[in-house]
Amino acid sequence: MKAVVVGSGLIGITSAYFLANRGWEVTVVDRRDGPGQETSFANGALLTPSMPEPWNAPGSWRVLLRSLGRTDSPLLLRVRAVPGLSGWGLGFLRNSSPARYERNTRRNSALALYSLAALQALRRDTGIEYGQAQVGTLRVFREAAALERAVESAERLRDAGLVFRALTRDEVVALEPALAPIARRLAGGIHYPNDETGNAHTFCRNLAELARRAGVEFQFETMASEIEVRARRVMAVICKGKRLTADRYVVAAGSYTPELLADVGIAIPVRPVKGYSVTFDRHSEDPPLRIPVVDDGFHAVVVPIDNGIRVAGTAEFAGYDLSLPDGRIGNLFTLLGQILPQAEFDRTAARFWCGLRPMSADGVPIIGPTPIENLWVNTGHGPLGWTMAVGSGRLLTDLMAGESVDVDARAYALARFYGTP
Ligand SMILES: Cc1cc2nc3c(=O)[nH]c(=O)nc-3n(C[C@H](O)[C@H](O)[C@H](O)COP(=O)(O)OP(=O)(O)OC[C@H]3O[C@@H](n4cnc5c(N)ncnc54)[C@H](O)[C@@H]3O)c2cc1C
Repeated sequence: MKAVVVGSGLIGITSAYFLANRGWEVTVVDRRDGPGQETSFANGALLTPSMPEPWNAPGSWRVLLRSLGRTDSPLLLRVRAVPGLSGWGLGFLRNSSPARYERNTRRNSALALYSLAALQALRRDTGIEYGQAQVGTLRVFREAAALERAVESAERLRDAGLVFRALTRDEVVALEPALAPIARRLAGGIHYPNDETGNAHTFCRNLAELARRAGVEFQFETMASEIEVRARRVMAVICKGKRLTADRYVVAAGSYTPELLADVGIAIPVRPVKGYSVTFDRHSEDPPLRIPVVDDGFHAVVVPIDNGIRVAGTAEFAGYDLSLPDGRIGNLFTLLGQILPQAEFDRTAARFWCGLRPMSADGVPIIGPTPIENLWVNTGHGPLGWTMAVGSGRLLTDLMAGESVDVDARAYALARFYGTP
């Protein structure tokens, strides 16, 4: 069997790797000059089955409306992005009812836990390295009510396999002494010992290399401009004016998946949600932080990565804009100062980045077949694409091979947006 995969981010590469390992002949096309150059490049580096909640929590629309035009807000809705969100936005709101939010949280939780186990198996099988660490994550809270809500939410996921420990302020500092200077501002925290970290871009590069050894052909600097369809079958993907043909086609083009599929009449309810990161390469034996810290109130993460530190966060509905405004970068420095006020970082050596999270209308990824017989999709992972990448690649390829799957595939099917609850 031959397959063409569009996209070499975390999701396209894992899909291609598992197809090749089943003996498929796979070609990956990507418009960039190497793997993982877009949203999978400098993300928050966290693998967190502990945080499967979609971003459209009950009441989140109020927070978004309050953010309109407030560029210092961690969550920002740009006025110019509103028209492009119309249909998708209604779906986003509809899915913020308590019942749907709970259901979607469970769906993400199942895939995230499955994915972490699949990543661990991949590590055992291949020895792949990507600066990984298994120290868990520490989520800290500035308000007692928020901590209480998070503990309740974690309790509800205990039966799904979530392991966690609620911590007092003193226990937070005992676990991560670097937080001592802000201890009196904290209400407490939660430690999720099974979460992991790793550099997503390094993973993309190294998994692409393993895929190449398994026979995958990568065509970089190759834009897929059109999908040619006849009688409800894909005949080819058009790249640089040439027809690339296969038996099956996978679109894993992140936030750009909807525009590619709209041309063949398939509506993919995914929109870009912009986020930023700044990385300080501090080659020191003594990193300022031992364990990744997620600050609930500031919607930010501070993560030790490759001997350095990365701060990532903020969510902005700004369409496909990839600019790096000073104000938003300043925001990240402010967040860092709120979490590690004592640490000194060389701002002149900081590397800034932004990416577009492919966010589905219900906050759950879209993995599986489309109404076009030989066309498959793997996208919509929003803020959890690294956490869910390996499991999503496995799930898609199990489905494409017609094999039994380890999770409830209907929960991630595109068909759920067309009538099935
Ligand atoms: C600030 C930030 C922090 C994050 N932190 C975390 C985290 O800590 N943990 C976590 O789990 N997730 C995190 N995420 C989310 C995660 O990074 C994404 O969900 C994930 O990278 C999406 O992967 P992807 O392969 O779908 O998309 P991408 O990585 O964007 O890959 C899509 C690829 O398709 C290519 N492409 C698009 N259109 C075409 C075309 N027409 N022709 C050819 N090629 C095309 C692009 O060049 C790109 O390489 C974060 C995201 C952001 C922005």
